[in-house]
Amino acid sequence: MAEIITKKDFIGIGTLVQVAGLVLMVVSFSFGTSGSIVGFIAFLACFVIGSKMSKKYYCGACMNRVESTSVTVCPACRSELTEP
Ligand SMILES: [Zn+2]
Repeated sequence: MAEIITKKDFIGIGTLVQVAGLVLMVVSFSFGTSGSIVGFIAFLACFVIGSKMSKKYYCGACMNRVESTSVTVCPACRSELTEP
């Protein structure tokens, strides 16, 4: 049994998505009130998606990268993985 270790990546595709959302929001401000509301929602969505994408999971036994917390067995060392 090993616990899945979660690590946050600060420079990666997730951060890129968050920055894109921020740019989108700033641009939307030039489209009036309704434009900025849509832009703000888009930014929030990008922020949530981005923070999910920047999370990386590792096997607690061998530090092999696993795709998500729904992975139950480590493909490298065959340890049974539990969610933290
Ligand atoms: Zn492993």
